[in-house]
Amino acid sequence: MNRDANRIFGVIGDPIDHSLSPRMHNAAFAHVGLPCLYLPFHVTSRELKNFVRHMGRMGLSGINVTIPHKISILDWLDSLSDDARRIGAVNTVSIENGRRRGSNTDGAGFLHALKSRTGFDPRGASVLLFGAGGSARAIAFALVKAGIKKISIVNRSMNHAESLATALKQYRSDVHCTIHGLASVRWQSVVPETKLIIQATSIGLKNNRSIPLRFSAAARGTVVCDIVYRPGLTPFLKKAAGCGLKILDGLPMLLSQGALAFRIWTGRRAPIDVMETILKLGVK
Ligand code: NDP
Repeated sequence: MNRDANRIFGVIGDPIDHSLSPRMHNAAFAHVGLPCLYLPFHVTSRELKNFVRHMGRMGLSGINVTIPHKISILDWLDSLSDDARRIGAVNTVSIENGRRRGSNTDGAGFLHALKSRTGFDPRGASVLLFGAGGSARAIAFALVKAGIKKISIVNRSMNHAESLATALKQYRSDVHCTIHGLASVRWQSVVPETKLIIQATSIGLKNNRSIPLRFSAAARGTVVCDIVYRPGLTPFLKKAAGCGLKILDGLPMLLSQGALAFRIWTGRRAPIDVMETILKLGVK
């Protein structure tokens, strides 16, 4: 494969209009002088199988995968990286000679953003994670790998939370893992002991809805992250900041996971500063 040739990349999801990945990657390609193009594709769950099966013939060299396809796309790929197989979700696909290989850069991207922007050290920490979808799975595995000792998973669908908890326990049996329904969780049993709270559901992406968490119960110094990125802070982060907690929005994760995907596709180091500048402009 000639990595310097004209190539087309993209991101698939439903919805897709909110994605800042096209701006970020197109700016990166232009900056390093690669004649590549990155496009958004609105692909519904019904269309996923056909899109993925034919994307090589459509001339695509790689895609990012976002809501709601990160888990279901596994059925239509030819091979997986070790991380993607363990996590059970894919956010980056490379297409070479018609073969589709899935990887996952979300977990490493989140961890890099967390450490570099907040200084948080996950070793020995208790974590409260909202969500059990593709991104939440990647984040949970990255945190367990980084040495957390306890994780409480809160999700709307208990079967998805259960599936994630089972996979985590198979990976590291010494991590204490509990699951809770979003509608029935007793905040007092999960909030005070945690030092890191992560919102990894799609709540707040399209509207001003927020998880009804009472941040006043959180310990001082707790770090609160919301991976949803949109103009301004999400209501979840506004509430956390109002209680004096340290917050991390979704842009640093978007940047880090994007830089890792850029490396996979091009073999080159991503121009982080350029990508970050474009992202900051994108949410204004
Ligand atoms: P998935 O579709 O895989 O998972 C969605 C998650 O949100 C599930 O836990 C789902 O619960 C929950 N959810 C969806 N709708 C509701 C609702 N109405 N009420 C309660 N829970 C709900 O999506 P992803 O994991 O791919 O993405 C999640 C969010 O993270 C998206 O908004 C996406 O844009 C953002 N994201 C940000 C990234 C970044 O770099 N900053 C990277 C990746 C994603 P259930 O299991 O019950 O369906």
